[in-house]
Amino acid sequence: MKKSENEKAWTICPECKGLGKKSQKLQKKFRLQYKKALEEFEQSNKEGIPPIRPKAHLNSCINCAGSGLIRSEKFPEVDNENYPHIAIIGGGIGGVALAVACLHRGIPFTLYERDTNFEARSQGYGLTLQQASKAIEGFGIFSLEKGIVSTRHLVHTPEGKVIGEWGMRKWLSSVNQKVTKRTNIHIARQALRLALLEQLGGHDSLKWGHQLVNFKENDNKTIELSFQVNGKIQMAKADLIVGADGIRSTVRNLLIGDAITPLRYLDCIVILGICPLSALEGLDSPLLDSATVFQTGNGNERIYIMPYTSDSVMWQLSFPMEEAEAKALSAKGCEALKEEALLRTQWHSPIPQILKATKANQVSGYPVYDREVLTTELLEKGKQITLLGDAAHPMSPFKGQGANQALLDALALARGIYKGCGPFSNWKATGIRKSVLTDFETEMLERSAKKVKDSAEAAQFLHSDIVLLENNQPRGSCLKGKDLME
Ligand SMILES: Cc1cc2nc3c(=O)[nH]c(=O)nc-3n(C[C@H](O)[C@H](O)[C@H](O)COP(=O)(O)OP(=O)(O)OC[C@H]3O[C@@H](n4cnc5c(N)ncnc54)[C@H](O)[C@@H]3O)c2cc1C
Repeated sequence: MKKSENEKAWTICPECKGLGKKSQKLQKKFRLQYKKALEEFEQSNKEGIPPIRPKAHLNSCINCAGSGLIRSEKFPEVDNENYPHIAIIGGGIGGVALAVACLHRGIPFTLYERDTNFEARSQGYGLTLQQASKAIEGFGIFSLEKGIVSTRHLVHTPEGKVIGEWGMRKWLSSVNQKVTKRTNIHIARQALRLALLEQLGGHDSLKWGHQLVNFKENDNKTIELSFQVNGKIQMAKADLIVGADGIRSTVRNLLIGDAITPLRYLDCIVILGICPLSALEGLDSPLLDSATVFQTGNGNERIYIMPYTSDSVMWQLSFPMEEAEAKALSAKGCEALKEEALLRTQWHSPIPQILKATKANQVSGYPVYDREVLTTELLEKGKQITLLGDAAHPMSPFKGQGANQALLDALALARGIYKGCGPFSNWKATGIRKSVLTDFETEMLERSAKKVKDSAEAAQFLHSDIVLLENNQPRGSCLKGKDLME
């Protein structure tokens, strides 16, 4: 689909109610089996375990091809009468995605971002969309203009010997292999964020320069929020707060307290850089074809290099380091980080050349953290408050899952609000927690817990001898998980 089509308004598909899936009618055989088992259970005075109602299979909705959206002349009218007004805190990937999904459903929202504008901070790194490369259609984005599809993933020793290869090119050349349908899309974080922001089309509910500093919840009534705006405090009201404010979330801190699930250091530092291919002129390497992802490790340091745009690459070097040392190195700034990265990677071509050609102001680095996985009980403290994305489940970048999970969270929450707070839902009497939040959080925490755990494990094994095993699979998949990113 072309950009002009992306720019049109969307509304939810009436056939699947914006879910992208439709329940197939349960087969008669299973309905009868269940009916019989239920009768027997009731006749036995309800002894033993009650039979579980079989679930109908969900099929992709044909009307909207599974996106949950159909084109429309304009966005639906905002339904202030029925739906809660949502204060979304944080205009990163998850927050903007939630705003877009609310817009498509007529759910009123205000999106607050502490940065004063889109470019306020350098946020230059690339993301790999895995599961979310399909989910992104649920936000009305059917083609990511700036996205790059990689077709080959290689793993090397420091001398340049290939010890692992996978991806479309490998599979296509191997007659007996089944080709996977999933495609990984590489995109700069800011390009994805911009694509989402463009969907909002300059919506007046987007408030830059608003840093949430406090909120007060009044039992199932409107919540009062305080923002720091231009050095002054401004107040606002909402029916639901969604903390999409990242790994150091203020909403999470105010709700749960930072001491309960503090930042957990994962014993390593990441140094990142972006290098234009034009700075590598004269260097002839098949690894720089804008469709190859490659990594090289020695059991301690590990570098991962992927297409960032069609004419640049992003590198991510990581290695174990004491927390205090990592903080000190990060604080020294880009020149020191670049020097450290160069010192540690005098490996095969084109790695030293790429690092050398990267401008220091395109280099950043930070110690890697996550947090222990939340429990639903901790989130239940907020009757009209929830979290999503990194605020709810921060994880190391080594499985490339953080933004993927944030997008899935945003879609799930918008769909939950649409269903749970619709015209006949009675959510005002039942409370939004019972109507929407508990189910949303249960699914989100279940889905993301494994990603948090696997990402933390990857922070260990990618800097161990496991990376040196000859194996045509993502590193660590011989141990278990099979996410394609690392
Ligand atoms: C190097 C690196 C590589 C990565 N690679 C991948 C990858 O390949 N694939 C992937 O899926 N993920 C990846 N991730 C993770 C991904 O970037 C994050 O998980 C994702 O951005 C989380 O989105 P979010 O919306 O929850 O938080 P963020 O994108 O961090 O957004 C939070 C927003 O909240 C704002 N904010 C904070 N506090 C306040 C406040 N008090 N008031 C108002 N606004 C506030 C911030 O300014 C920010 O804009 C990577 C991360 C890094 C660092």
